[in-house]
Amino acid sequence: MTNLKLKSDLVSQVSLLGRGVQPESFNGVSIDTRTLEPNALYIPIVGDRFDGHQFIDKAVENGAKGTLWKKGIPLPDSLPDGFPVYFVEDTLNALQDLARRYLTEVEPTIIAVTGSNGKTTTKDMIAQVLAERFTVHKTDGNYNNHIGLPLTVLRMPEKSDVLVCEMGMNHKGEISFLSQLVNPHYAVITNIGESHMEQLGSREGIAEAKGEITDGMKASGVLIADADEPLLDREWKTSVITCGFKDSALFLAEKFTNTEDGVTFSVKGINGEFTVPVLGAHNVKNALYAIALGAHLGLTDEDVRRGLAGLRLSGMRMERMKSNTGALMINDAYNASPTSMIAAIETMKNMEGYKNKVLVLGDMLELGENEKELHESVAGHIPSSCTHVVTIGKKATWISCALKKEKGEMPEIRSYEQKDEAESYLASLNLPETVYLFKASRGIKFEQLIEQLQSN
Ligand code: ATP
Ligand code: MG
Repeated sequence: MTNLKLKSDLVSQVSLLGRGVQPESFNGVSIDTRTLEPNALYIPIVGDRFDGHQFIDKAVENGAKGTLWKKGIPLPDSLPDGFPVYFVEDTLNALQDLARRYLTEVEPTIIAVTGSNGKTTTKDMIAQVLAERFTVHKTDGNYNNHIGLPLTVLRMPEKSDVLVCEMGMNHKGEISFLSQLVNPHYAVITNIGESHMEQLGSREGIAEAKGEITDGMKASGVLIADADEPLLDREWKTSVITCGFKDSALFLAEKFTNTEDGVTFSVKGINGEFTVPVLGAHNVKNALYAIALGAHLGLTDEDVRRGLAGLRLSGMRMERMKSNTGALMINDAYNASPTSMIAAIETMKNMEGYKNKVLVLGDMLELGENEKELHESVAGHIPSSCTHVVTIGKKATWISCALKKEKGEMPEIRSYEQKDEAESYLASLNLPETVYLFKASRGIKFEQLIEQLQSN
């Protein structure tokens, strides 16, 4: 439930024809009758498969207090008399317009986060750290596109100091649009990977598309970027802070210690250590972005330390759980690209105290025409400390084949077409002192496999 009070004048500014109703105020907006809260303004979006206007009766039944309505679409006779209807040319534009106007009322410091991997994680880390000093509103889950972003804005409580929003994309131009929608004060580019190679053609194309995040930035804006990515080392129209592991990084992480619960590290030029309660060097980098922002916005090192230590990541990102035999299972199968698969493998490589390390890798989707080479490229990163490698799916077989060519049968390599065949094998392993790492694209649904290994 949002405590947003959407001012009626905001709505009337986008309304062309009222129905003689008095100005109303709403408990936020909703585009989905299934999750609509009473007293919300319903915004029917015209999608590819559904048209939200068809669900107006359900919206009324669930307590909507008014609706936007595309001009030209007939109103149903069932609509109760006096139900507030605001006619607009285009409901999606109106939603985005409302968000723009609402931002000018609340005037938060706006931080936009994009990148191929780590957007949600970084957004969560930044929000957690800044919450030590400010009232922070952040993107809920993955609401990171042209619909999710305005909804995020409109769900922001009126008294927010900071808005941290995730910006995602599939195509050129999308990030530029999102940036111009909210005009960020700060933007973060977490990394450049290979996701959406199909649409953008090359890593250069991806870097350019992510770089669009500066298009709408305020004149005084600051870009915070991955120091280790040469494609981001270019002229920018904003000032830049770099974070990473390269000597030239402004925020440089060093001296890592991995524990089962996370990573402790120091940052050059800052006294004392930081701990992130999540695994992986890539998460140290994500934490650096939050540290840089904390420093820029006047937090003390102690504030930042406390914020990071209190972090809880969203599910399926390096999520730790136990198998039914008590082994540690790490579920990192929220999504996958070669960059993030290699980052996860590196994390497992650095985990000490395990006799057996079992890598369970699935297909990586949407990699475009070089998908075979991109899968094969992962094999070279699998360390000899891995005792078992299990690939599941036709594409993931490219990884096991490449690995066999490189290393023969050591480690033990299995490839399966289906999850349930792999499950029988994994369940039969029952090894002591074992860590399992699961990584695949979201569409492969590794969570089903993991659930079975927990319950059998
Ligand atoms: P999506 O595009 O699906 O919204 P996202 O960019 O929000 O993804 P997260 O959900 O934060 O990314 O993390 C997804 C996976 O990306 C993690 O499980 C991890 O494997 C990997 N990852 C996170 N941060 C980085 C990073 N800085 N560099 C490389 N890989 C990373
Ligand atoms: Mg995300």
